Amino acid sequence: MRGATSPDRRSRSTADGSRRDRRLVAECPPVERESACTGCRRRERNGDSLMEAFGKLAPEAWNLGRRDVAEPRPSAGDALVRVAACGICGSDLHAAASDPGFEWISPPVTLGHEFAGVVEAVGPEASGIEAGQHVVATSIQGCLRCDTCRAGTTNLCADRRIVGLSYDGGLAELTVLPAAQLVPLPADLPLRTAALVEPLSVAVRATRVHTRIVPGDRVVVSGPGPIGLFSAQLAARAGAEVVVLGVEQDRSRRLALAERFGLRTATVGEGIDTRVSEALDGPPDGWIEASGAGAALLDALSTVRRGGALTLVALYGGEVAVNPTFAVRRELTFSCSYASVREDYVRAVNLLRRGAIEIDGLADPFPLGRAHDAFEAARSGEVVKPLVVVDDALARGQPVDTNTTAPLA
Ligand SMILES: [Zn+2]
Ligand SMILES: [Zn+2]
Repeated sequence: MRGATSPDRRSRSTADGSRRDRRLVAECPPVERESACTGCRRRERNGDSLMEAFGKLAPEAWNLGRRDVAEPRPSAGDALVRVAACGICGSDLHAAASDPGFEWISPPVTLGHEFAGVVEAVGPEASGIEAGQHVVATSIQGCLRCDTCRAGTTNLCADRRIVGLSYDGGLAELTVLPAAQLVPLPADLPLRTAALVEPLSVAVRATRVHTRIVPGDRVVVSGPGPIGLFSAQLAARAGAEVVVLGVEQDRSRRLALAERFGLRTATVGEGIDTRVSEALDGPPDGWIEASGAGAALLDALSTVRRGGALTLVALYGGEVAVNPTFAVRRELTFSCSYASVREDYVRAVNLLRRGAIEIDGLADPFPLGRAHDAFEAARSGEVVKPLVVVDDALARGQPVDTNTTAPLA
């Protein structure tokens, strides 16, 4: 071992006579002092109150876990929101899997953009929002100053940020974000229900802006996840004949749910065009692709009628080989719908408040301590919408004891 440094030469004696590795001493982080109150759940580290959060811990795929982080404080223009419940979305799964298109995320980051909660405090320059208000966040946040934002398409802003990906999100007891990005809720909408506003707003945009439905249109919705089930209900409300398309594994849960919501269903596979035409009494005029599966996109291309339209409202894990000539010769129209803007949220809030959209049986609750299980359940497809209930009493709309002033042990 010529040239190797003897461990002894890097060591030094300490006051108590023991020998420590000097290199390790130099790299040793400051000692963190943690304490916890035995009477309540409050914990402190170096004088900061700690809270529980869940997120992506490192860049590699599926490196998810609990984070104990200091409670955030609102800066000027910010609001501090106590989270009641936060849904897990397909885009969270793409982020967790480090799929192409999600390389820009820099962990550790607390995930979660589909949350509803109560404003606990606001920063000095926050306007339009006050403490005590029930809110949801717009997940994609534009700069609100550029031409794109002024045109109302904040979801397309070149400087857009995404809560729960660009910065810490709602899988936490508390979260801080710009007050201008919050949408106030009516106090009578349970926060557990309001956690579905974001995915519903995505379906609102896909159907309202990007799918021109006229009564009597025949529409296929592929992908019976939350966005697909919402889009199908909205298309039916707009007067379309709708069939929801899934794979065989969707039969027991997702397609059964679609049928409970009053929608017709079919499964993909051999003879899909015939089955769809039979279910709709003719070839589809429109197709809303909400599955993110390349095979569904190819089915749409070959099944929609000549002159028909496709709306893509999914994110794809990879490339899909398509020969555009086939679509050109049939004069198909493509629309792509990405996330949603404030107006879509407001419409989604009103739809949920009026009970105009079926949601019973859609969400499966998990406590924050089991957020990892919620991700696994979403990944395996065994649940439709995992809903992480951070504060059960708040989520159900019951009064909560907000006394956090108990002395620390
Ligand atoms: Zn989402
Ligand atoms: Zn902008």
